[in-house]
Amino acid sequence: MLIDTHAHLNIEPFCTDPEPFIERAQNAGVRCILVPGIDIRTSEIAIGLAERFEGLYAAVGIHPQDSAAAPEDYLKILEELSAHPKVLAVGEVGLDYYRDYAPRKTQRRIFREQIAFARDRKLPLIVHNREADADTFALLDAAEYFNAQFHCYGSDAAYAQKVLERGARISFTGVVTFSLKARAVLKTLPPEKLMIETDCPWMAPAPYRGKQNEPAYVREVAQAFAEVLDIPYHEIVEITGKNALDFFRIPPL
Ligand SMILES: [Zn+2]
Repeated sequence: MLIDTHAHLNIEPFCTDPEPFIERAQNAGVRCILVPGIDIRTSEIAIGLAERFEGLYAAVGIHPQDSAAAPEDYLKILEELSAHPKVLAVGEVGLDYYRDYAPRKTQRRIFREQIAFARDRKLPLIVHNREADADTFALLDAAEYFNAQFHCYGSDAAYAQKVLERGARISFTGVVTFSLKARAVLKTLPPEKLMIETDCPWMAPAPYRGKQNEPAYVREVAQAFAEVLDIPYHEIVEITGKNALDFFRIPPL
């Protein structure tokens, strides 16, 4: 089953009129889309979209870039939001030492708190890790919680092995359609531990590079997996889809 495990339909340019994008995705064979929050407002919008559209699900969480702006009672709000039946995960959460939009100390505190939050509720985590390999492991190790999807994977092959050893999963965006480095990492990994995503509106795959990304283009990501792993396209769709269904405990469609 073709599943986009990470699409920001809760922000512009999608959120005011998401329908054409969802329709194009459905026409491309995408059966299920997971919409992660980046702050409280977008978490709420993700839930609203999940209520409106079949096959859409939400995750709630505070993105590292937004961690300095998180309200003091954000965990209480996430608690209420996560009770919604279409909320499947806590995300996206993590550390971003590349952009450093929020002080690292704040990023670590908010990530640590959300790991504990997810662990207590037995919800999977959607982890954003940008140039923060060591600290990402340090915080997850401290909580002994690795029910996590390392989304938009950008670290090296050795780190990927450690991610999988801990029982976590990895997902790739359209970057695998053009980045030799990402393709070399992908080639070393077992497909049954992998998922696919667009991370739209960013990370557009070839041949749409530089243009706006959208969920329909998750097909290009699956196609790149097929080429790199030398597995037929329909099998890639099957394997990565099953992995996403199991990992996020998506109800039968
Ligand atoms: Zn994202």
